[in-house]
Formats: sequence, structure tokens, C-alpha cells
Amino acid sequence: MLFSNALIPTLKEIPADAEIVSHQLMLRAGMIRKLATGIYSYLPLAQRVLQKVKTIIREEMNRIGGQEVTLPAVQPSEIWEESGRWELYGKELLRFTDRHNRNFCLGPTHEEVITDLVRREVKSYRELPLTLYQIQTKFRDEIRPRFGIMRAREFVMKDAYSFDRDEAGAEESYRKMYQAYTRIFERCGLEFRAVEADTGSIGGSFSHEFMVLADSGEDVIVYCSSCGYGANLEKAEIKPPDAPSRNETLKKLERVSTPGKKTIEEVTGFLGVPPHDLIKTLIFETDQGPVAGLVRGDHEINEVKLKNLLNCEYLALADDGTVEKVTGSPRGFAGPVGLRIPIYADNSLRGCLNMVTGGNEQDTHCKNVNTPRDYTVIRFADIRTALEDDPCVRCGNQLRMRRGIEVGHIFKLGIKYSKSLHATYLDRDGKENFIVMGCYGIGVGRTVAAAIEQHHDKDGIVFPHTLAPYHVLILPIEINDDDLRNVAFRIYNQLGAEGVEVLLDDRDERPGIKFKDADLLGIPLRITVGRRTLAQGKVEVKYRTSGTVELVDCEKIGTHIKNHFSNC
Ligand code: ATP
Ligand code: MG
Repeated sequence: MLFSNALIPTLKEIPADAEIVSHQLMLRAGMIRKLATGIYSYLPLAQRVLQKVKTIIREEMNRIGGQEVTLPAVQPSEIWEESGRWELYGKELLRFTDRHNRNFCLGPTHEEVITDLVRREVKSYRELPLTLYQIQTKFRDEIRPRFGIMRAREFVMKDAYSFDRDEAGAEESYRKMYQAYTRIFERCGLEFRAVEADTGSIGGSFSHEFMVLADSGEDVIVYCSSCGYGANLEKAEIKPPDAPSRNETLKKLERVSTPGKKTIEEVTGFLGVPPHDLIKTLIFETDQGPVAGLVRGDHEINEVKLKNLLNCEYLALADDGTVEKVTGSPRGFAGPVGLRIPIYADNSLRGCLNMVTGGNEQDTHCKNVNTPRDYTVIRFADIRTALEDDPCVRCGNQLRMRRGIEVGHIFKLGIKYSKSLHATYLDRDGKENFIVMGCYGIGVGRTVAAAIEQHHDKDGIVFPHTLAPYHVLILPIEINDDDLRNVAFRIYNQLGAEGVEVLLDDRDERPGIKFKDADLLGIPLRITVGRRTLAQGKVEVKYRTSGTVELVDCEKIGTHIKNHFSNC
């Protein structure tokens, strides 16, 4: 491609509304342009990079026996009503009606559509296992679209679905997919970790998120550097502490006046106690009625863990009205003493003595609170969010944390959708069984953005070879100089004929501008054709990753480049 013919509208300035580096660089490199919030056009350079990711994904999906399909983006409400998600999905689902007033949505994901297809087409055990995938535009009306195509409203996803006869088959499909994902992200040149994620009511350890390590990531990865355990923050389990020896005496329960002191900081400051001597009492509404969750003042409750412990469908922090009804006091003074709802406490509170809690009365706290003397805990369990240095659930060593970008997610669904949509098959004995499913997503655009987060420097993008929009950029210093121009075009034609993807900067621009753009676009190899080196029959080759420069004979450049890429 000749730069003069290409639509690569580079920008000199950092766009003001782009917060993270990948967003800034994709705008500056002329890869994307915003049409509306969270909705982007992909320009030719981005298209080429996305295409590279899609090719890698296709190769790896096909390698594990996946078959590509294209499912409709427009989906009728009926199948979503069957799965129960028409109500549950909430505002992220973009709904609309057609001219006959029928309800539709734009697909945010395709479990319903694929399950509908398979329930109609697959009848017998002979047709299973089956893995289908597609690479397609999804729409999610995200509450906070941001970071460019990292969290967009319209974005390209690879979604795959596996269909098996039984649990063992589904687990095998899951394992294959895990390996395929590992290969995909390795081939994309990413530094990533697969971490355990919550499986909710499905249970088991069959949900992994593939996280690209990056400080700008919205997610937190918790991992143990000794045993390799890794999970997202929502899921990360903490080893229960050893029961402390109770050599302190139980002091007399006291009620103290704490006017206007509601937060942990206010109460601990006012009473002169450290936060770990205080119990935070949180009231939740659930489909099983209100419950209380207790954690130490220096800890945070983990709603996902509490929800799983209760095995409930719905759990959310109670509103002010419910808090008042349950505790008899305004928010900020809840405590376990005298509370008539089920109380669950975090493991770290086991054996803690003489604690401070809310008094269930305005402007009042209790001191020297002890269980079981003053209140009853239904169950101690791991219900708090992990912190750096907490003990690993597997080996007890200290947990570490890093930020990450979720680029892929694999999930064993079990029979969740096959049950609600009635997708069954007949086994060898003619007995009807539910098909056991798995679903597997990769954000294609997010993978590109994550790659740029990991691979850039102060001058621009440093594309991994496998994702680069072009392999080589040829830069003649002065395009109007016939000698330079001729050599540049000769190399361009020669490399092109050998299948190397080449961009020739034939613009009549100052060299400074061309060099700046070359660094910005991040093409792995730059061949500079200049007067001085050409006088010695050489051109300059610069490697974008290492910054190293070498002079190569014009005659040998084809072989040189070929050798370089065969080692990549
Ligand atoms: P997140 O927690 O980031 O919202 P999710 O759990 O909603 O992600 P999935 O439903 O598992 O995501 O979707 C599969 C993949 O699609 C994700 O791993 C991610 O790479 C990508 N993805 C999800 N939402 C977006 C988005 N708004 N923009 C771009 N990519 C997305
Ligand atoms: Mg989401």
C-alpha cells in the first residue's frame, strides 16, 4: 500500500477525551474514529489489525473442531423470554419494536439464538459433541462506555458455544477451549493470566477469565506467586485464619453515644479504636428476605461470595427504608446485637473479642460486643474481598494483586439454557437428556486495545509482529529524488511479490513528519532510503521493538527481511 493512497489520518496532538494510552494511540494512529458514545468506525489500519486477530482466532477455533456460523444480530424477544433474560438483562439490552409492534433486541450475546438453533437441528447423541462459533458485532448499552473500543457499546466479539452429551464431555470441551484461548493470546503476543472467575449457581471451577496484565485494566487479578493460584477479585478465596486463642477477658457490653458518627473513620476516630476492632454490619435484601453480613472495619464485604453462600438468586444492599425497618435506626448505626435477621460473619471475625459495632439506634454504638454472648452468627465463612498479603486459599502464602484487562471469558454453562429452552437429545437408549453447554467469548477489539496497552513506548505503538497492520514500512527521505524513489519502489515491489505486507511512505512530507508517523504506527520494521547510505549501496533497517539500526546492502534486503520474519 502506498501511504499517499491510504486513509491513515494520523494526529499530532493527544486527543483530550482519551484517558488511556491505547485509546490515545488508536486515535492518533488514525485507526478509529468515534461516531457516538461507545460507537466507533474502524479505519483501514485498525481493520487490518482486527483481521489478524480474527485469523488467529479462526485458526485456533478450527483446530479444536469449532465450526464457524453467523447468527442474526437482531433477535426476537420470545427466545429471551423463554430463557428468562428479557427481564433479567436490564438496560444493557438494546430493545426495539418493528412495524408490527413485535419486540426485538440487538444481540449482546447469543446463548438464546444458538440454543434455539441446536434444539431444532440436533436430535441424537450421534450429533454431539458440537462446537459452533462466530465472529460478529455485539451491542451492549454499557452504563459507562469508555477507553475507546476497550469498553464500547458496539464491539466485535468471537463467541463460541459447545454442546455435549454429559458433564464429562462438557468438561473436555472446556479444557480444549482453555488451551485454544491460551494459544490465541500467546500468538497475539500478550502477557496474560487465566484466572478463576465466579460461576454463580453453576458451581465448580469452570469459569476462567483471560486477563491481559496492564495498569490501566479495570479488573483486579489476585494471584499467588508460590502455587500459581489466580482468580479475579470477585472470586479470590482467602484461607481462613487460625482460631485466635481467647486469652482476653470478655468485657461488659456498653452502649456509647456517637453523635453523627457513621463511617468507619468517624467512629474509630471518635472512640479511639483501630478499624480492625470494629465490625461493619451491612444489611442486604435477598429473595430469601433481609440478611446481615458482618466484616471487620478494615475489610470490605464481597457480595458475590455472600450471594453464593446463601445460594440465592438476588442479593443487593438494602435501601434506607429496609435498613430502618430491620435495625430500627437510620443507616450508619446497624449492628448485630438484637438484630432479628440471619447474620453471616466473615471468617476473620471468628474469635474476635470486645468489638465495637453499631447500636441499632441513632447516634449510638456498642462497645465490648462478643459472640455468642451478645448475638448469634448463623455461619462464619469467607465473605470479604481479598487484600494484598492475605493468605492464599491453597498454600497459605501471601496473595498478590495486579490490574488486568479481561480479553476472554470461558464458562461451563451446564444445562442452564438447554433446560429453559428445552434443548435435548436422545441417548443410545432412546432416553431424552438435556444437552450440556459451555460458552466462550473473546473481545476482538478489546484484544487489540489491550495489545497496545502492553506494547507501546513514548513515540507510539510497538505492534507485536503477529498483529502488525504491515510488516515493513519503507521510508524514502525525499520522494522527489528519483534515485531514492526508484530504490524505494524496487524494494517495495520485491517484498510485495514475496508476500511481505509493506507500506511505502511516498508522501511528499518533511522527513521529521514521516519518522514520527512511522514510530506512531508501530510497524515492526522500517527501511529508510536516504542519500547518505545509498551512496554506499545500503539502506537502513530499524527494528521498532528494540530500536536497533543496521545497514543492509540494497541487493540483499529481500533475503534479509525474509530471514528476519522466518525467525519471528
Ligand atoms: P466486562 O466485565 O468487561 O463487562 P463481560 O463479563 O460483560 O465483560 P462477556 O460477556 O464475558 O464480558 O463477553 C466476552 C468478552 O467480550 C469479554 O471477555 C470482553 O473481551 C469482550 N467485551 C465485553 N464487553 C465489551 C465491551 N463493552 N466492549 C468491548 N469488548 C467487550
Ligand atoms: Mg459486561
